[in-house]
Amino acid sequence: MKKWILFLALITMQGVFANELQNVGIAKYAVLEVLDDNTPLRLKDSENATRLTHLFKNAVLFADKQNDDYYRVELKENDYAWINKKFVEVQAIIPEKRFDNINKISFKREKNNFKALIQTPSQSAFVIKEEGNNLNFTLFDNRYDPIETKVINKNYRFILNEKIENELNLKYLNNSPLFGYDVEKVEEGYLLSIKKPPCINKKRPLNDIIITIDAGHGGCEKGAVAFGLEEKIINLQIAKALKKELRKKGARVYLTRTRDKQISLNDRIIFAKEKQSDILLSIHQNSLLNPSEVDKKHGVGTYYYHPQARPLAQKIQDNLLVATNFKDDKVNFASFVLTRPTSQISVLVECGYIIHQEEAQKISNKKFQKVIAKAITKGCEEYLKESFN
Ligand SMILES: [Zn+2]
Repeated sequence: MKKWILFLALITMQGVFANELQNVGIAKYAVLEVLDDNTPLRLKDSENATRLTHLFKNAVLFADKQNDDYYRVELKENDYAWINKKFVEVQAIIPEKRFDNINKISFKREKNNFKALIQTPSQSAFVIKEEGNNLNFTLFDNRYDPIETKVINKNYRFILNEKIENELNLKYLNNSPLFGYDVEKVEEGYLLSIKKPPCINKKRPLNDIIITIDAGHGGCEKGAVAFGLEEKIINLQIAKALKKELRKKGARVYLTRTRDKQISLNDRIIFAKEKQSDILLSIHQNSLLNPSEVDKKHGVGTYYYHPQARPLAQKIQDNLLVATNFKDDKVNFASFVLTRPTSQISVLVECGYIIHQEEAQKISNKKFQKVIAKAITKGCEEYLKESFN
């Protein structure tokens, strides 16, 4: 009975909202509540549009417009984003936006992290953006007045609210490249963690660096298949060879799978985070939707999503090109589940094309797999040595 009333109320609410938004000039907002964690908020009303941020379950947004599939969300005046209707529920229609107050912001220095705890009852959306070595955290629809600078030490500083109204702007200024960061929704509000740059021993740069290797696919997900070879098997063989090489250099290495087993993409990234990884390397072999084009497109390619991961991707690619003598399939920006995590430096490597006869033969050969493993290891070493000193 109760369920039906709620259902009818929601239907009515969506209907009222549709009508009211057509009254141009009258400010009205639909209060949206996000149904699940990791929900993408996009720059345009399309599944292919760039993700501005990911929202957590119960996040609250204010929509001022809609079309068939999307709500337009007002982040601040003249600043909008879009969310697919299937990810939210309309909670109310209100004439004016609500703002929350931030009670307190506290800073903490831990062994491996700098932390900022933003205490607020708010459920608002946030965006975190890399700007060179710096990070810019914005929490919308929140009020916090003090303008202040918090100096952690001479190399690291937080700056609060330079000129912002109705949002929190927290800048993190850093003298060395970023090495992972994260925002979590906690009971008190939002917790921003920023990984301290590692102390690198120039002679042994991988010493004590924590690396998770992810062998792509597994179990009934075979990945690409060609010439009687299965991608999932080659991925695991290379992952194991890579573990050996990295451990020789002092790294602490974990594998998301050590046998032929199916694991969800999400479980793989949770695993990497739980291990407090510094680096996440996902190992794959490539293929094409149209295999007849493999004469033109093949070779080794490395993928990243966040700018902080680009230097590592470049070093791995450079070393793989020299070691394999494969065609250069480039360092590419790509939005994959395994390249999107920010908690560590996340990179995905396509060692070769399994549908390319010559490459398939090589990537399935144990001796050649060791060559690949050594090249990736060298790429990691060069990245650490050159980025952090
Ligand atoms: Zn794959």
